[in-house]
Amino acid sequence: MNAHHARVLIIGAGPAGCTAAIYAARANSKPLLVTGRRAGGQLTTTAYVENFPGFAEPVEGPLLVEQMRRQAENAGTKVMYDIITSVDLSMQPFRLEGHSGDTYLADALIVATGSEVRWLGLSSEKTFKGFGVSANAIFDGIFYRNKEVVVVGGGDSAVQAALDLSNLASKVTVVHRRDRFRAESILKDRLLSKANVDVVWNHAIDEVIGEHEPNKWVTGVRIRDVRTGDVRELPTHGLFVAIGHDPATALFRGLLDMDAAGYIKVDPWSTKTSVPGVLAAGDAIDPIFRQAISAAGMGCMAAQEAEKFLIEHPPAPIAPAQSAGPWWPVGPLHGGG
Ligand code: NDP
Repeated sequence: MNAHHARVLIIGAGPAGCTAAIYAARANSKPLLVTGRRAGGQLTTTAYVENFPGFAEPVEGPLLVEQMRRQAENAGTKVMYDIITSVDLSMQPFRLEGHSGDTYLADALIVATGSEVRWLGLSSEKTFKGFGVSANAIFDGIFYRNKEVVVVGGGDSAVQAALDLSNLASKVTVVHRRDRFRAESILKDRLLSKANVDVVWNHAIDEVIGEHEPNKWVTGVRIRDVRTGDVRELPTHGLFVAIGHDPATALFRGLLDMDAAGYIKVDPWSTKTSVPGVLAAGDAIDPIFRQAISAAGMGCMAAQEAEKFLIEHPPAPIAPAQSAGPWWPVGPLHGGG
């Protein structure tokens, strides 16, 4: 159990967090980047990224985000593979606890916690999660070689997942609740030209059907026509849920102002949250664009605003590392921001 005190502490190692770390490190702030459970965020489950500038050829999502993290380390960031479990923003420096038992103090904090998978919310979905129900076509697709799968959703994630799966599965059926995709045109066109892909428009998934003994496995889904209410069964070996993401901000509920959906509120053209010295960037604040490149841009803004905050509100010098205990200088929350 260790204690760490950082001038700038960043939570989240996706494009927003890594970019913030690169900028903060180059400003000589020696940032700490706490990765969270899934170091790298959503890019770790994206097979290929084709729209991140700087890569003429498609780049693997995990590789892209790993390069970002290494760039941050090379610039002087210390990466901590830990999960923040509690946060106290009532005093400066801010105090955070990690799952490892480590304690973190931060003079400025950048929240780049991203988003997490949205599930359909069916109890049968829960029952078969990991036994035929997945939200990760990249990792789990391999189990469906030459089998039939269903993908639910109509955005970029669903269409990309269906495209990835179409290279492995014998047949992919996309079930979408409306009569058109919201995904990028280039992805839509690619999907609709695939011979082994079917789309069932205007249908919702009511239930995942499967066997429980001796092991759990999926045999089909019950789908409902949202216009007529007609219900039928669609046989399948697996269901991939790709219906979007929700901001991963539960840790900050009640501490930072948020909208009803849980996105952290920031000032216009800024990453400043309702607490001075706490900046937020990426999917945690963005219900609209949610792209790797826009998240990276916000990470850059957050780092610069953190520096500005620290110049305007100089913290006490950081004590040399010590074991945990109430060794840190604490004081009332800074005003302004
Ligand atoms: P989106 O929010 O864009 O799309 C979610 C899809 O799921 C929508 O089609 C929505 O339907 C459907 N949906 C939502 N809730 C339900 C529900 N309860 N039951 C059935 N269907 C539901 O999320 P994505 O994860 O697809 O994308 C998130 C962001 O990430 C986007 O900005 C996207 O552009 C980006 N992204 C980009 C990629 C790329 O390669 N460029 C790859 C993956 C993601 P409806 O359309 O009716 O609202």
